Amino acid sequence: MKTVICPGSFDPVTMGHLDIIRRSAKMFDKVLVVVMTNYHKRNTYVFSADERVDLLKRCTRDMENVEVEQYDGLLAEYARQKNAVAVVKGLRAVSDFEYEFQMALANKKLYEGAETIFLAAGAEHMYLSSSLVKQVAGFGGDISHFVPECLLERINERLCRTARS
Ligand code: ADP
Repeated sequence: MKTVICPGSFDPVTMGHLDIIRRSAKMFDKVLVVVMTNYHKRNTYVFSADERVDLLKRCTRDMENVEVEQYDGLLAEYARQKNAVAVVKGLRAVSDFEYEFQMALANKKLYEGAETIFLAAGAEHMYLSSSLVKQVAGFGGDISHFVPECLLERINERLCRTARS
């Protein structure tokens, strides 16, 4: 049984994240999507950790081998606890690479079993990020191509409200 981990902030989940999760679910027996706190972004989250978990659960409902959890500690420790064979990360561009490569090496140092697998972002998702979604929705723009359809109303409502306050 090969378990992998798809970690991230998912503030909020985008079509780019979902693509990485779906492709991982096709390749491995079990995918643990884990909502974590990125040290550099911790003061900028719009959605609470519980909300981010809930949004992810809704849009992965059709994927039987995907589970969503929240974890506040080190990713390497989580990988050890779950006996995961790898962490799967999406790479959008060269700009993602330096940070992701650093994290991959640090995780491996902290736990020898923590391998990292990079999946190239889908061409149609290369430009997509949670920050972009927040920015566009905040100005009243159309985010229907950026987030899963079943979450559109909820994400829009929250981001417009936050932008107004
Ligand atoms: P973090 O805040 O930890 O960087 P994110 O939620 O921004 O987490 O991203 C989580 C993971 O999803 C990262 O590996 C990131 O590279 C990947 N990712 C984000 N957006 C996309 C996208 N549009 N296409 C493919 N992978 C993506």
